[in-house]
This record gives sequence, C-alpha cells and structure tokens, in this order.
Amino acid sequence: MKKVIALVLVMMFCVSGLALADAKPEIRMGTNANFPPYEYHEYIDDVDKIVGIDAEIADAVAEYLGYTLVIDDMDFGAIITAVQTGKIDFGMAGMTVTEERLESVNFSSTYATGIQAIIVPEGSEIASADDLFVEGKNYIIGVQESTTGDLYCTWDIEDEGLGTVERFKNGADAVQALVTGKVDCVVIDNEPAKAFIAVNEGLTILETAYAVEDYAIAIAKENTELLDKINGALAALTEDGTIPAIIAKYIPAEEAAE
Ligand code: GLN
Repeated sequence: MKKVIALVLVMMFCVSGLALADAKPEIRMGTNANFPPYEYHEYIDDVDKIVGIDAEIADAVAEYLGYTLVIDDMDFGAIITAVQTGKIDFGMAGMTVTEERLESVNFSSTYATGIQAIIVPEGSEIASADDLFVEGKNYIIGVQESTTGDLYCTWDIEDEGLGTVERFKNGADAVQALVTGKVDCVVIDNEPAKAFIAVNEGLTILETAYAVEDYAIAIAKENTELLDKINGALAALTEDGTIPAIIAKYIPAEEAAE
C-alpha cells in the first residue's frame, strides 16, 4: 500500500513538474477597451473578452515571445503611469507617439496609422477643421480625456480662447454628448469614429482630418530588453503577414481607403 502511495506521489510530482515546465510567464498589457476596432469588449460564448486589432496583435507578439498575454482594462489616461510604475509591461491602446509621451516612456516601431477625425451632426455649420478656429464661434468640442484629440484641441482652440473643450472618460460618452446636443463636434481617432457613427444615426465624419499620427506600443524607459524583443516580434509578424491580416480583418481595404 505504501508503495502504491509513494508511486502516486512520484507521478503527481512529475505531472505538476511537467505542468510547471509548460506554463509560460505572463506579460501584462494595459489598454482602454472602449476604442473599436482596436480594443473593445465582446461576449464570446457568454464570456466577456477584449478583442480588436491591438488585442490580437498583442496576443501574436506574446505568443511569438513565449508569454501568456494578460490584458488590464483601465482609463486611457492611466496607461503611461502604469507602464512607468511597472503595473503593466506595456501599453497598447491605439496610442499615438508624441514628443511629450516620449519623455515618459519608449515607443516600439509603429504598427498602424491613426487620423484625428471630426464627427458632427449631419447638416452642421462646421464643415471643415478650419471652421473650429474661427474667432467668435466658440464651439464646444467633445474629446476623450488625455488623448491627442484632447491635447490638440486644448492647445489650438481652448488655450487660444476660440472655444471650449469638454472631456469625457471614453469616446462613446463624447459621442453620446454629441447626439444629445451637449457638444458641437467630437475630435477622435478615425476608426473608432467610424464605429461610433455606425451605431448612432444622424452623425457624419468631416472629410478634413485634424491630424495624422502613428500608433505604437509604450514600454518603460528602463526596459530596453522588452523594447527590442517587441520590435523583433513586430518585424517578424509583419514580414510573415500576421499583422497585416489582423488589421485587414478589422479594417477591410475598401473601408480603409475611404
Ligand atoms: N490615438 C489617441 C491617443 O493616443 C487616442 C487613443 C485612445 O483613445 N485609445 O491619444
């Protein structure tokens, strides 16, 4: 009997040892999952999952580097600090590379282009980006807090006394304020803009954009080893077609050309 127990124990150790050897270390990504098609919640078989371009690219990068991806959903404005303090290993949230952010974190190579677009109600007297800078108009502009849309409109319009910026926790709330007439327009990234106008009638995206930008992954300044690894993974996964296929799945080519 003792022999049997000993044998069972030995087998248990072996199995758990194998399981341990098999377990991949975790890598944590911080994002704000309210930014379709880059990251958003979707119920798949009744399970709440974060999906989208960033979520899938991050999963491919993690797999390529031998990690298990864990996604931490947080306010967009909290991501850079979470990277700096090590709460997360990287931030990936349709995040634009800017001079200011580069003072706090490093950015990977760019994996996508973003455009700051302007959403207005159909028939609005705001017909182009230039209309926002007309003295005396004092438009109320809705933005997502801490995004480049917020920063540009604050500097160019609010600080110049040309209008007011209303800041919302996420893009969906800013668009809701537009629907109810609390703001005159919303400045937000083009792809989420398309997703938001698709589910809200009576809104349109202006043809002139506010700005064109590059999206990249934010990594702590001191973690240059991870920066190199992620850049290597991005290059390999672009080369073998994985990343272009993920982007094409969420942004069909004919739509991207619009
Ligand atoms: N691209 C914008 C920025 O980096 C918005 C990103 C977002 O809202 N997730 O500020």
